[in-house]
Amino acid sequence: MRIWIDEDKCIGCGSCQEICPAVFALDEEIGKSRIIDPFGCEYAGCCEAAAENCPVEAIVIEEE
Ligand code: SF4
Repeated sequence: MRIWIDEDKCIGCGSCQEICPAVFALDEEIGKSRIIDPFGCEYAGCCEAAAENCPVEAIVIEEE
C-alpha cells in the first residue's frame, strides 16, 4: 500500500490526524497535513477511514 497527500487539495482541517495520528500530522506552519509514518497505523483501516473522511479527497491510497 502506498499513501500520499495531494498538498494542492489539502485544506489543513486536521481530520486525518485525529483519525490516524500515527500516520498523519498537521504541519501548522504550512497548514497542510503530512505523512509522518506510512506504516504507523495503530489499527487496520484507519488510513482508509482518514481518506474517506477527508473533505477534499486529498488522501490517495494505492494498493500495490
Ligand atoms: S483530512 Fe484531508 S484536508 Fe484535512 S488535513 Fe487531512 S489531508 Fe488535509
